[in-house]
Amino acid sequence: MMHSESYFRTVVLSAGIFAASATNLIAEDQGPSEWSRTEPYPNQTVYYPGTETLGPDEMRIIACGTGMPQPRLKQAAACFLVELGNGEKFIFDMGEGSYERIMALGIPLDQLDKVFLGHLHLDHAGDFPAFYFTGPVNNRLTPVRLWGPEGIKPEWGTKAWADHMMKMWAWEEATRGAAVDPRGLQLEVNEFDWKAVNNVIFDENGVQVRTLPAIHGEQAVSFLLEWNDLKFAFSSDTLPTRWWREHADGADLAIHECFTPPEFMIEKYGFEPSEAIFVGSQGHTAAQAFGKIMSETEPRLAVCYHFQNDHDIALAVYSAIRETYSGPLDLAADFMTWNVTKNEIRTRQGVPNEESFPAPVQMAKQPPDSAAEFPFSEFDLESMDLGAAEATNDMIEAFNERSGNDEVGAYTSLPFKE
Ligand SMILES: [Zn+2]
Ligand SMILES: [Zn+2]
Repeated sequence: MMHSESYFRTVVLSAGIFAASATNLIAEDQGPSEWSRTEPYPNQTVYYPGTETLGPDEMRIIACGTGMPQPRLKQAAACFLVELGNGEKFIFDMGEGSYERIMALGIPLDQLDKVFLGHLHLDHAGDFPAFYFTGPVNNRLTPVRLWGPEGIKPEWGTKAWADHMMKMWAWEEATRGAAVDPRGLQLEVNEFDWKAVNNVIFDENGVQVRTLPAIHGEQAVSFLLEWNDLKFAFSSDTLPTRWWREHADGADLAIHECFTPPEFMIEKYGFEPSEAIFVGSQGHTAAQAFGKIMSETEPRLAVCYHFQNDHDIALAVYSAIRETYSGPLDLAADFMTWNVTKNEIRTRQGVPNEESFPAPVQMAKQPPDSAAEFPFSEFDLESMDLGAAEATNDMIEAFNERSGNDEVGAYTSLPFKE
């Protein structure tokens, strides 16, 4: 097995962090002879978001979507969060369903201000509008920064995409903007040349993000993130490229797409054989091709995603990869979490909070932009039910008495017409 000497899984004990090789997990001196009856059992084999300090030299990656365009509860579409020990956080791709995974981590949205889209398919960009427009009601008070490829035609590029997003959601923006701190509803869009090789698109605070051209219907890229002598590589969607072979070589964590084998696309989705072969091997990376590029680039840990990680498909994907690759490998699932340092890479399944609420605001809120005020119409005032308005005013009055506030119902306190 390749890299077995450098590939460790760890067991956390109360006495500190103890590293054990993957083939020797059961050590003799693993803990005290008697566990406390009042202190928590310290040997967590899962990751509970929001409960662990990220070390200053550590990189943590959380899968917030590992699936396909077909919506399913078990796997959102593509999205990976990278958190660094210097406090910077990066989102790579934001496919359908991924936003709720992100929110389940309990991270203040102000800290999630950088989004990188490898291409503009819905299963890689579909949740960005929801993330952007509902940010302010989830306590985001800072602008969002977006990076994505230029278009082959200008109207296909990320700037046009974001511009049309604003137009499509104009009413949303107007009504939302009249009610929230205006700082959270600002978008900075950065386009880059998708054909440029190893192109630096972000270089701040000791972190570099670079792009590689991807082969996925043109106008698509893969990403490299380097910080603190650690290299993270994310393919987004692509056939394996010579650019990946050259520049993702030796990555600490390499996440590359790997598509569902053709038999399953036929069985589960009703694809024709020609469709299954085209989509699964010409538009995407076949499992054997994933294995080949990982053998050629030898990451410390290879991660495959973009298939249904079920008992039958996962086994077929795993077996196919093992035809061409024998190194360290994880089959990604939603909330799978990787802690990466120079000394070790630890994989755990994340256990999210299904009943999450947004993290508190990180600074004092400002009132809504008065210029963005959304006018009340005569029609609305004439439509109000008088009994319900009175009941609402009673509620507000009681709230004011209980809480010492002095709130007034903007609609319900107005004079109505019968
Ligand atoms: Zn795609
Ligand atoms: Zn995709």
